[in-house]
Formats: sequence, structure tokens, C-alpha cells
Amino acid sequence: MVTLAAAPPDEDHPLGHHKAEYFSSGFEGVLILAAALAILWAAGHRLADPQPVEALGLGLLLSIVSSAINAGLAFAMLRKAREVRSMALEGDARHLFTDVWTSVGVVAGLVAVHLTGALWLDPAIAILMALNIAREGYALVRQSADGLMDRAVEPEVLDQIDRTLEGFRHGTIRFDHVVTRRAGQRRYVDMHMHMPADWSLRRAAALRTSVEQALMSAVPGLRASIQLLPMDVEAHAHDQKDLV
Ligand SMILES: [Zn+2]
Repeated sequence: MVTLAAAPPDEDHPLGHHKAEYFSSGFEGVLILAAALAILWAAGHRLADPQPVEALGLGLLLSIVSSAINAGLAFAMLRKAREVRSMALEGDARHLFTDVWTSVGVVAGLVAVHLTGALWLDPAIAILMALNIAREGYALVRQSADGLMDRAVEPEVLDQIDRTLEGFRHGTIRFDHVVTRRAGQRRYVDMHMHMPADWSLRRAAALRTSVEQALMSAVPGLRASIQLLPMDVEAHAHDQKDLV
């Protein structure tokens, strides 16, 4: 899905394939939820009918070592995911983290039972871990759904856009109908730029180019689309009221 998302626009998808990442992260979220349910189910049985815990020996040791490696990988992936704003990578990183939490739960359960002799501690810890994993899975599904539904850009990106427009806004220039959305790594903003009706089209277009360039350098990866309008004309008779 990361490869697909990076594919250039084509005839069928003229805006690109950036949203492909949300399928991947949403699916990982569902898998994580399924894992949480499986753990809850198994732990519920154990809680109702406590069993002596089995010492896992070499298996346990391997599990601890692989978890430590997974944790390192997950941290590295999460950092990269934030950097390149990749939902698919972030989903993968969170998936790895849930594996780590599962192993932590196994070890904590064994140690707790060993120290106290209370068999119910093992399934109780498993249930706590499962709830934590379920929370992660749910967050991932929700974020992916948000992305598919064109969620507005992050507040800090919106602030950046506002501050940039402020530099161009004065008596004769007005920006309104500012609408943003995100699609995978991309950020989009649409808006009106109102200007004096007697400006030449050349002058208006030149100003628009400056605004677009300022926006794109303020927010890397942003795509701005700006509609030019005279000061006293709105684009549609039934437009929603001005947002900015
Ligand atoms: Zn307007």
C-alpha cells in the first residue's frame, strides 16, 4: 500500500493514490482489535477456571529477545511515519507495539504468579493488556476512517496557513471559504481570494502565484487551490457563510 500510495497520478486517479495508505492502516487496526478479542476470550476462560502457569523456558527467553527487537523497530518506524506522515507505516509500527505489549503481559503474568502464587493475576494482567491493545486498534481504525472522510488538516498546519494568509491580507484583499483536507501524506487547501474588481487578470494571477508559493513553502507538501473573485462578488448564491 505504501508503494501504491506513492504511485504517480494516472488517468483514473488524477489526484494521485495517497489514500491507499488508509486501507492498510485500517486493516491493521482491525487485526489488532481481533487480537485483543482473542486475548480477552482466552483470559476470560482462565479467570473463570484458573490453571497453573507453564514455565516456558527457552520459548519465553526468545519471546523477550524478539520483543526487544520489535520495540526498537517499532520506535524507528513510528519516528519515520511521523516524519513522512505515512498512515500505513504508523499502522505497522502500532501493530509491532501491540506484539511487544503482549510479550510484556506474558512475562508480567508469569512473574506475578511466581511471586504471589495467585493464579488469577495472570489472566487479570492479560485482560489489562488486551484492553490497551484494543484501544490502539480502535484509534488506528478511527484515524483511517477520518482520513477516508477528508478530515481537516492538523490545527498547527491550519495555524500556519492562517499566518501565511495574514501576510497578504489588507484593505483590498480578502480570503474566505478556506477549506482544508488531508489525503495520506498530502495536505490540500481551497479558498477564495477577493480583490478589487478593477484589477487586471494579470495582476490578480500574479498575486495568486505569490500566495500559493508562500503557502507551499510554509507547509511542505501542501497543495493550494485559490479561486479569484472581485471583492463584492461571492462564487455561489447559496454559499455557506464565510469561514475566515
Ligand atoms: Zn468568498
